[in-house]
Amino acid sequence: MTSERRAFAYAPAPESRALVDIKPSYGLFVGGEFVDPADGTSFKTISPSSEEVLAEVAEAGPADVDRAVRAARRAFTGPWGRMRAAERAKYVFRLARLIQERARELAVLETLDNGKPIRESRDVDVPTAAAHFFYHAGWADKLAYAGLGPDPKPIGVAGQVIPWNFPLLMLSWKIAPALAAGNTVVLKPAETTPLTALLFAELCQQADLPPGVVNIVTGAGATGQALVEHPDVDKVAFTGSTDVGKAIARAIAGTDKRVTLELGGKAANIVFDDAPIDQAVEGIVNGIFFNQGHVCCAGSRLLVQESVYDEVLDSLRRRLGTLRLGDPMDKNTDIGAINSLAQLQRIRELTDAGEADGAERWSPPCELPEQGFWFPPTVFTGVGQSSRIAQEEIFGPVLSVLTFRTPDEAVAKANNTPYGLSAGVWTEKGSRILWMASKLRAGVVWANTFNRFDPTSPFGGYKESGFGREGGRQGMAAYLRSTDA
Ligand code: NAP
Ligand code: MG
Repeated sequence: MTSERRAFAYAPAPESRALVDIKPSYGLFVGGEFVDPADGTSFKTISPSSEEVLAEVAEAGPADVDRAVRAARRAFTGPWGRMRAAERAKYVFRLARLIQERARELAVLETLDNGKPIRESRDVDVPTAAAHFFYHAGWADKLAYAGLGPDPKPIGVAGQVIPWNFPLLMLSWKIAPALAAGNTVVLKPAETTPLTALLFAELCQQADLPPGVVNIVTGAGATGQALVEHPDVDKVAFTGSTDVGKAIARAIAGTDKRVTLELGGKAANIVFDDAPIDQAVEGIVNGIFFNQGHVCCAGSRLLVQESVYDEVLDSLRRRLGTLRLGDPMDKNTDIGAINSLAQLQRIRELTDAGEADGAERWSPPCELPEQGFWFPPTVFTGVGQSSRIAQEEIFGPVLSVLTFRTPDEAVAKANNTPYGLSAGVWTEKGSRILWMASKLRAGVVWANTFNRFDPTSPFGGYKESGFGREGGRQGMAAYLRSTDA
């Protein structure tokens, strides 16, 4: 660091860890209470920024999953299934209020367990999770407007499996619509980030939610597999990698389970020469460096029109030099820790492959902490379309830059991956935005912005990014069956 930069260094601004009371160990949340797993096994969850063990968490085996599914079934055929829709709405609303009331606690816990900057868990994850519960509370007594006839019915017991990148937010995308529609759920959080789901279980107790409406089974992939394959699960909702999504599709083929799969992505963020460059650069940074790039819809491929290539890249490099990487609990931190050693190794492997393919790697000067898992913000230029870093999801703070000359070429390159989750278009021409949106094979197309989430807006993929939508009316329909037929 130059002395000039040091003179303007920020003072540390740590959020207080004392806001959250982490228990030394956690049981499974089944039938409204915390219970020990049948065979007594457990695993540790750590803070990826320090490698400190945060808590010991129960590992659910098949017997525990079965117990949770039975609790969910009892609640579905019992109090929850019989409850008037307007009453059900009040519970969903109460959960939204409790998330707000305990927002600081949830944000600190998320940041400790996941490694993401407190600024993001505080300003994005937790408020957006609350927004999902508020929005869906309004749906509970308006199901006749879901497009499935005058009196659609819930599906039954939903088995839900979520990843580690937005633990509480992905929980809310799953649980809020399921409950609003009248289903009961068994949810499995990711192995590396179970703690906010377990705090959410406490919120369910605080809200007096009838026992068994929400069950949380912690564990690794085998727990998720036992859940989705359980014969009494009526609906599977999965968010995670395309490989596991395919395995789930194979496992439940031939059953009458309903399924939605929200999988990976390799989004193009497309900058035309008439775009406001400063705004576009902010959007590029937000698109790929938000949440360390652990974002399914991350703008991981920058497509920039040749005539503004130098200008955009100069400005981008300058901006990346101002990002602050380090302690996620510091309120001034922009880039936190990589969620796990396994993920760090995957990012290293893919970036090494990028270099081997002939692309040029660049990172701003940046000191990585010694403890924990870290990767510097990285930009690859001269990336060939067939290179692994242009085709495969890196799921890290790594941007691959490609160029184009014409709108047709931009569309062809943008669509040239196995994925189709999201895309971004930067231009001042409205007609071009609409034309691009109609050509891009992506579930979400952002125009002059990126990574915006709203519970009213359906989100989901084309091709290997999965099928089904979450959010909005389409998301509600995934938890309902039509009674028209
Ligand atoms: P992952 O390995 O597929 O894991 C996702 C979840 O599935 C975890 O809870 C995991 O458990 C569990 N799981 C693993 N094997 C399973 C099996 N055979 N059957 C059932 N469940 C199983 O994905 P990840 O690496 O955690 O998450 C990153 C991926 O999620 C990326 O590809 C990203 O694009 C995608 N993602 C998509 C969206 C979207 O909305 N489209 C949103 C966020 C993330 P453990 O973690 O305990 O192993
Ligand atoms: Mg953890």
